[in-house]
Amino acid sequence: MSNSNINMVEPPEGVVGEGFFATKLNDVVGLARANSLWPLPFATSCCGIEFMATMASHYDLARFGSERVSFSPRQADMLMVMGTISKKMAPILRQVYEQMAEPRWVIAVGACASSGGIFDTYSVLQGIDKVIPVDVYVPGCPPRPEQIVDGVMKLQEIVKNESVRRRNSPEYQELLASYNIK
Ligand code: SF4
Repeated sequence: MSNSNINMVEPPEGVVGEGFFATKLNDVVGLARANSLWPLPFATSCCGIEFMATMASHYDLARFGSERVSFSPRQADMLMVMGTISKKMAPILRQVYEQMAEPRWVIAVGACASSGGIFDTYSVLQGIDKVIPVDVYVPGCPPRPEQIVDGVMKLQEIVKNESVRRRNSPEYQELLASYNIK
């Protein structure tokens, strides 16, 4: 075992004594959530291919506790939007987001999902944050799998540090209201 390459997740900050360890509930919940994010891929074009590489054995997103890709919004908490989103598709994306249970997070993967990318045209949504709130933007056209993994790790940091009360806060309700999402 001494030669093992397996790294354990660091425990949250706490008070250690003989036979006990005490920490905040917030930290424990954050740690558990951050290391078991279930992705829901919403892939419409080329960036989706990079997602496939990210999930495959070489980059292996499973290392971050995200091996369980969900194709049901009800059983996913990390919506990953990859590809060009047309304005006609925007209501579908929004519906998928609304079907996800709280807490839910969103990553815009690549230039198209983040800003419309090279498609500055009448039919393309100029960034998914026009219809749903986004937590992390991954740049690139397409982003390499390393960048996607980096985006997931950035999201893990956000999730780890999010208060368990945030989803009930007036600020969060205000954010949803600004998107007209109930
Ligand atoms: S960002 Fe580039 S690679 Fe990704 S979907 Fe748009 S055009 Fe394709």
